[in-house]
Amino acid sequence: MLQEVLKHIEQRQRFLLTSHARPDGDAVGSALACCQVLRSMGKQAEVVLRDGVPRIYQPLPFADSVIAADRINGKYEAAIILECDSIQRTRLQGLEDRFLISIDHHVSGKPFAHVNWIDPHAVATAEMVYRLAREAHVPISPEIATCLYTAVLTDTGSFMFEGTNEHTFALARELVLAGADPARCARNVYFGHSTAKMRLLGSALSNLHREGPLAWIWVTHEQMDSVGAKEEDCEGLVNYALSIQDVEVAIFFRELPDGRFRASLRSKGTLNVASVAEHFGGGGHTCASGCSVDGPLSVAVAKVVAQLRLHPSVQ
Ligand code: 5GP
Repeated sequence: MLQEVLKHIEQRQRFLLTSHARPDGDAVGSALACCQVLRSMGKQAEVVLRDGVPRIYQPLPFADSVIAADRINGKYEAAIILECDSIQRTRLQGLEDRFLISIDHHVSGKPFAHVNWIDPHAVATAEMVYRLAREAHVPISPEIATCLYTAVLTDTGSFMFEGTNEHTFALARELVLAGADPARCARNVYFGHSTAKMRLLGSALSNLHREGPLAWIWVTHEQMDSVGAKEEDCEGLVNYALSIQDVEVAIFFRELPDGRFRASLRSKGTLNVASVAEHFGGGGHTCASGCSVDGPLSVAVAKVVAQLRLHPSVQ
């Protein structure tokens, strides 16, 4: 399938690159790296993201050239959608009539595009972009390496999630040899938070609830407003609940303006949280997934917890 993707790239000149709304490190890093790979191949390429680049990824090379928009207008011959299982998750208008290439590593990845390269064994979509660059004989510049390394770093939970193995470190090694600076990448991601995010963490942890191997935290819309937090400030808060000894699965609930709740689920490995998220119309990975659930909070919590409790390891 990599050959197929490359063939379609070689046949065209103008590309749009995008990923899911509320982009994470793999979404931003893979899109920025893939854009540079295409430009090195002599193509015209632009990255458009519905929500722009979150604060902690703004130091990435070429992050300032990302276009934040909710509609695609340009004359692109193809759109490459990275790290995303549907057109809807991009929350971009105007993709429907384009030639679409999907590059994704989610277990819940779906073949929605004209060309679908889905590899759940890839540790991050960034790994697939790396393979694409190698196949196209594009040299991995320090800028490409920095974007890809940051994507791998964040999507493996700092090399902590299940699935991190010798190949992950071999890839990281290649990227460091190509010019990624591990300390600088980590500093931007882990020491680049806003004050509002830390205050939001305080609110979320004060709502911590434990029940056997489950832990959950939540923030209301009002709490987010009161500390001046944005959506992106919620990223990673769930990991604090997961960090508790004997907790196998943690959930972070965020109230949406319409009263529904976004649930971020994380597992230490015994329970597949992708299948739980899929039950509610979401998706993701075995150890990290997300979905939206109807409120109020007590109902959203009860529904998700009941679904988790069907699994023998958390009864
Ligand atoms: P997060 O909890 O950080 O929002 O998402 C964790 C993982 O689940 C990410 O890989 C993300 O792409 C995926 N994910 C989150 N929400 C959804 C959703 O609504 N649908 C699908 N298919 N995947 C999701």
